Amino acid sequence: MWLGDCYPRAFVNRRTFLRGLSSGSFGDGSLIRVGNNENPYGPGPAALEALSRATTRAHRYPGGLSRDLAATISRVHDVPLDHILLSGGSGDVMRAAVYTFTSPVRGLVFPRPSYEAPMRSAQHIGSPVIRVQLTPALTLDVRTIASRSAQGGLVYICNPNNPTGTVVPAADLSTMIASVIRTSPDTRFLVDEAYFDYADAPGSGSMIPLAVKHPQVIVTRTFSKIHGMAGMRVAYAIAQPDTLAALRLRHSASSLGAASLAAAAASLADVEYLAQMAELNRSVRSFMVDGFARAGFQVAPADANFIFVNIRRDARAFGDACYAQGVQVGRVFPPLGNWARIAVGTGAEMKAAMDVFLSVLAAPPVPTRRG
Ligand code: PLP
Repeated sequence: MWLGDCYPRAFVNRRTFLRGLSSGSFGDGSLIRVGNNENPYGPGPAALEALSRATTRAHRYPGGLSRDLAATISRVHDVPLDHILLSGGSGDVMRAAVYTFTSPVRGLVFPRPSYEAPMRSAQHIGSPVIRVQLTPALTLDVRTIASRSAQGGLVYICNPNNPTGTVVPAADLSTMIASVIRTSPDTRFLVDEAYFDYADAPGSGSMIPLAVKHPQVIVTRTFSKIHGMAGMRVAYAIAQPDTLAALRLRHSASSLGAASLAAAAASLADVEYLAQMAELNRSVRSFMVDGFARAGFQVAPADANFIFVNIRRDARAFGDACYAQGVQVGRVFPPLGNWARIAVGTGAEMKAAMDVFLSVLAAPPVPTRRG
């Protein structure tokens, strides 16, 4: 993948990229990558050790390691083994859920803006997308989601939400989901908890207990974020066995390799490293939030490993200007075209990146390509 995740394909600015290469500002590894919400520190020591041990088993099929990872997930979340589906990335589970539970007559209920992969899957198979705007506070509008849910075969909930980083309290979410289940039992929920481990907001909580209780609820977690393993492609879903059986018809976990499985199990058990990552993220994130606030820019309440800033100018042009100076920020999330999503890098990276952001924002805005 080249710039794919941080800029839409139509806007891959080759000239800017090549200029950056020739000026030596990146291409030598110095590009500050805060566009994809990755953990800049990578996997922890336990995961790395497991990874290296797994190389000695490279000639064996990894069934035993799959069972080890599932057993660790079962223990950590206190869920039965048959409620766990392993996946080569949570995107694969989302695709399977959209393909399984939506149709041309029962669409995908999709808060906007949010992580767009499920919406693209729905569009791919011709299922309608029932968009629900966020509230003015940039949180999920649970009331409107509830009122639209009966039209949907699947409701996508991302909590904390990407790109805003905002959290809906677990009590509000579980009340809403339980009420929809009562009135529209054919509607399913996919609750994407990719950024769950970063959330500090009061009332923040997982929907895993609801996934154990109700066949309509699926929760996804990924190793791509706090575990620092985006390149290793491991994730899992938790749901009742019949729900997982339906998903399995459209999903294959056979892409999971020994190294990824072994590292994931070790990482999940390494609570100390995960706590350290959350703490580092919290402190660098406050540095970023304070920097933007001091410069007069509004930042949405930040509960993930990225922040969402109202830069009051075209975010695409801003991303372009930052990229020319060696900082890759997140792509634009319509309809909030004047907001920039910036991931939390290391302290040193963010010190340098903040200088770039504030100097770009201090200059007059360049005219947008859209005129
Ligand atoms: N869910 C959300 C909300 C994300 O932001 C991302 C990636 O950025 C993913 C899922 C993708 O996760 P995975 O790498 O497990 O496919």
